[in-house]
Amino acid sequence: MNQTLARALKATTLEEDLQRHYSLTLGREDTGGDTDFHLYQALALTLRDRLVARWQDTREHCREQGCKTINYLSLEFLMGRTLGNALLNLDLEEPVRAALQSWARDLEQLEDEELDAGLGNGGLGRLAACFLDSCATLELPVTGYGIRYQYGMFHQRIENGYQVEYPDRWLRHGNPWEIECPEATRRIRFFGRSEHYHDSDGAQRVRWVDTRDVLAVPYDIPVPGYRNGTVNTLRLWKAEATDEFDFNEFNAGSYTDAVAAKNEAEQITMVLYPNDASEQGKVLRLRQQYFLASASLQDVLARWVTVHGEDFSGFARGNGFQLNDTHPTIAIAELMRLLLDEHCLGWNEAWVITNATMAYTNHTLLPEALEKWSVKLFGELFPRLLEIIYEINARFLSRVADHWPGDTERQARMSLVEEGPEPMLRMAFLGIVGSHSVNGVAALHTRLLTEGLFRDFHQLMPHKFNNKTNGVTPRRWLAQCNPGLAELLNETLGSGWVTDLDQLQALAPLAGDSNFAERYMAIRRDNKLDLARLVQERCNVSFAPDMLFDVQVKRIHEYKRQLLNILHVIHLYARVLSGNTADIQPRCVLFGGKAAPGYAMAKLIIKLINNVATVVNRDPRLHDWLRVAFLPDYRVTAMEVICAGTDLSEQISTAGKEASGTGNMKFMMNGAITIGTLDGANIEIREAVGEDNFFLFGLTAEEVEARRQDYDPDALIAADQDLARVMQLLDSGHFNLLEFGIFDPIVAAIRSGSDPWMTAADFRSYVDTQQRVDACYRDTALWARKSILNTASSGRFSSDRTIREYADEIWFADRPVW
Ligand SMILES: *Cc1c(COP(=O)(O)O)cnc(C)c1O
Repeated sequence: MNQTLARALKATTLEEDLQRHYSLTLGREDTGGDTDFHLYQALALTLRDRLVARWQDTREHCREQGCKTINYLSLEFLMGRTLGNALLNLDLEEPVRAALQSWARDLEQLEDEELDAGLGNGGLGRLAACFLDSCATLELPVTGYGIRYQYGMFHQRIENGYQVEYPDRWLRHGNPWEIECPEATRRIRFFGRSEHYHDSDGAQRVRWVDTRDVLAVPYDIPVPGYRNGTVNTLRLWKAEATDEFDFNEFNAGSYTDAVAAKNEAEQITMVLYPNDASEQGKVLRLRQQYFLASASLQDVLARWVTVHGEDFSGFARGNGFQLNDTHPTIAIAELMRLLLDEHCLGWNEAWVITNATMAYTNHTLLPEALEKWSVKLFGELFPRLLEIIYEINARFLSRVADHWPGDTERQARMSLVEEGPEPMLRMAFLGIVGSHSVNGVAALHTRLLTEGLFRDFHQLMPHKFNNKTNGVTPRRWLAQCNPGLAELLNETLGSGWVTDLDQLQALAPLAGDSNFAERYMAIRRDNKLDLARLVQERCNVSFAPDMLFDVQVKRIHEYKRQLLNILHVIHLYARVLSGNTADIQPRCVLFGGKAAPGYAMAKLIIKLINNVATVVNRDPRLHDWLRVAFLPDYRVTAMEVICAGTDLSEQISTAGKEASGTGNMKFMMNGAITIGTLDGANIEIREAVGEDNFFLFGLTAEEVEARRQDYDPDALIAADQDLARVMQLLDSGHFNLLEFGIFDPIVAAIRSGSDPWMTAADFRSYVDTQQRVDACYRDTALWARKSILNTASSGRFSSDRTIREYADEIWFADRPVW
């Protein structure tokens, strides 16, 4: 630790720092009253002090070593809370508990004062957060770059069964974990025109002029590794108006217009778009993407120039960029612009650097997520970038023409510009052409990419394509969220599993050990009680720990098929009412997840779940058999309780549609057994745990595509008594007696021959498999064995494994770059 800091922190105890921050930094008096919030803040600042010291050491070390640094660009970071993670990684939980005794406060009370940093929609944003934890733990010099949204993911409430959205003002009381760095402010340009000119040496150059500028101000959040002294950085950008912009307006004599213009600039980072796996072509979103890309690239280039001047010959050896999905791929064009126009490199040199530093991760095959921007709109916002993209495209298409002479159809297919009445830029293609690596996020997903959507590109440059199956961090998703199990693991295996999750494999021989199984299941039962308490509090539904806890939490989307799950619930309801309860295992079914505010069908599915829950829970005949709840405002902090207390993990997407999934991995680690389709990482989960310990059902991706030709849900319904009964209950308005016809769109979607999600096709197989689940659960020793084997086999779903692969095969690999 450097001298100044060592002095600053000299001999201060946690108690002293807590008191000092509480009384001096925050200016509070400790006279009872509602002090929890300020005590939480004082504790956060106390921990931040300890992170800052290590933070500077990490940076210094990296400067001295001249390490290659990787910049992870993502429009989303779904961080959740920071306090518990900081305590775990700094190994300060016990000392902090002790320090809090004089305040007569539980740590848990203070933890509940922290709002989730909900700067993401779902899996993609949470992946970025898990990756940061793994990079710091593996001591890799990786910086996260994102946007400091004033309003994160909306808060969801359920009113009369419907989702209602409320703003997430997570910064209302400030954020004690962040440090503003105005000295590193960057200027971001929009609009204007590009001007060609000759520089003093007579060389042809281009500059972007008459722009309307916005400032990007960085806020840094420390990212500690697990007990290793490393602290990396998450740098989030906030948009602010430039002063002279206001000043011009002032001179024109319009105070209010000046303020309005300020608002317009600051709007860029006002709100996270709450869409998961879809893009709506909104201008503000495109401005966010460019704002993030430009600010982050300028930051990295400025740091380079400080050390190396204008010599970029070693830049690609010292820097890399990982683009989290298509959202930040505009960075490819922006890096070219900065190198060409601001740093005066030639095209070839700039292109080699861009290609060698950029790597692109694709997250979805859904067509509605494939970003396309109108050429016209793009050209107005970024006239210079459009020129550059045209040049990239022209050079690329001539390569295509060389490879497939005369194949003009292929050139049109592969062009970065989709021709038509409204020409569009294909941003995913820019990501492929401009990067040296393109990866999918699970084996099936990567295969489907190279065989389908990106087939032409794969044929032309197969070496670029690779798979990196997702993972989740075992710190948050096991050590932190399941302290009971963590303690048992420590006792049984030692504590090495926290950073080497493959060590869990040593549990496998204990799966049949009745003593161990008893302890393992007792911990699971405690966790189920915690989850039941949460459900009671938030949903006013009582979950009994002896019943099977069947859970589906994730974004609400048709492809994830919450609908199939609720059809099964209705089927169980009908069975109990008809007296056919033989072999039914009593179960509690939990749903949770947010729907995009503009996604009507997803919102209607939430309403259906809630209406079914009301009917089921009210009926005393069902009480011993079935209980159903929809947990409002699903988020990271809720998942920490949920995944530890779940028996059955529902991963039931239409095969070929879920790129990977990561919820599936959190559940598995904590001992839930999966019921799932052969989709995304489910396939690899099943391989790891063995087919006997995974409840498989449904069509394969290939079968789904083959069936589309002659898909006839009405025939399936007519041929299946159980499905017919379920549809009849829905048709007859049984769950919407006083809300006439509201579920008609759902019924129509299931009955449609062109239902892309083929819900009816998988119903029979799903229900039969659920019956196998019931039988298995009743054999408690058998269930315990399978549950333990799931934890034991979850090692490869640690994001540490994923990040090692990124590091070895993409970031630090010495490979030819063209
Ligand atoms: C893990 C996680 C997700 C991703 O869940 P999937 O089931 O993979 O879609 C989404 N939201 C939150 C809050 C999560 O923790």
